[in-house]
Amino acid sequence: MPRLGRKAQGGKLSWITTIFMVLFHIGAIAALFMFTWKALACAVVLWVLANNVGIGMAYHRLLTHRGYRVPKWLEYAMTVCATLALEGGPIFWVSLHRVHHQLSDHEGDPHTPHEGGWWAHVGWILSGDSLNAETDALARYVPDLTRDRFYVWLSRFHWVPLVVAGLVCFAVAGWPGLFWGIFLRTTLGLHATWLVNSATHMWGSRRFQTRDDSRNNWWVALLTGGEGWHNNHHAHPVSARHGLKWYELDPNYYGIWLLKKLRLAREVKIAQYDPHNPRPAGAA
Ligand SMILES: [Zn+2]
Ligand SMILES: [Zn+2]
Repeated sequence: MPRLGRKAQGGKLSWITTIFMVLFHIGAIAALFMFTWKALACAVVLWVLANNVGIGMAYHRLLTHRGYRVPKWLEYAMTVCATLALEGGPIFWVSLHRVHHQLSDHEGDPHTPHEGGWWAHVGWILSGDSLNAETDALARYVPDLTRDRFYVWLSRFHWVPLVVAGLVCFAVAGWPGLFWGIFLRTTLGLHATWLVNSATHMWGSRRFQTRDDSRNNWWVALLTGGEGWHNNHHAHPVSARHGLKWYELDPNYYGIWLLKKLRLAREVKIAQYDPHNPRPAGAA
């Protein structure tokens, strides 16, 4: 069992991560002084690729929970998109998220607001241990990924696609393209994902009596393409669909639905909302 959580890690800072995060935030502010429409287009395209196709559809619903299947070439391509979010490689992201589901809001959860809202939002990222140490312990959570040489390679060089994307943005839209497509877009995207770890374990409504404090939060869902229906998700982690009612917008699921229509996605698992049985199987 990896030693995760604020108590276990002691709050030491990882200087490399902290310096990068500070630089990206400074770059994000600088971007606001150099707007062009082309630069905005770079940011929007990369947002959809990194946060929707990458984090939501690939890292989370495909690799972590195996809520559906796609051909290997597409799985790899979507996973490369996820690295554009600067949230680490697939082995790191998926193993920590599997630990989060196993221990949600209990001791050992890498990012529970029980140890502070700031800790759950970003503190755990800036603390070195969850990123560097415990790698062997975390690898046990992802045997499906550590067996795959491409994922091992991509986990080591997860920053390469972002560098390439930066060069493309610069070629297409100059300095504003670089600052909007990389620094501003990545920084806002990080906060959107982090809100799933912080806000949706603190604020929102609870449809299901799960063992954790997960909530359904509509504004986090809007920012993340549906990841904010987090109480639904903790109750039905394998479901590729997180918004269980028609008004619970879930663009990341619509992407998976589209892949299914294109005959690229199969075995799409979908939880049905049953108002007569709000307590899902397996929940305490
Ligand atoms: Zn959660
Ligand atoms: Zn999950």
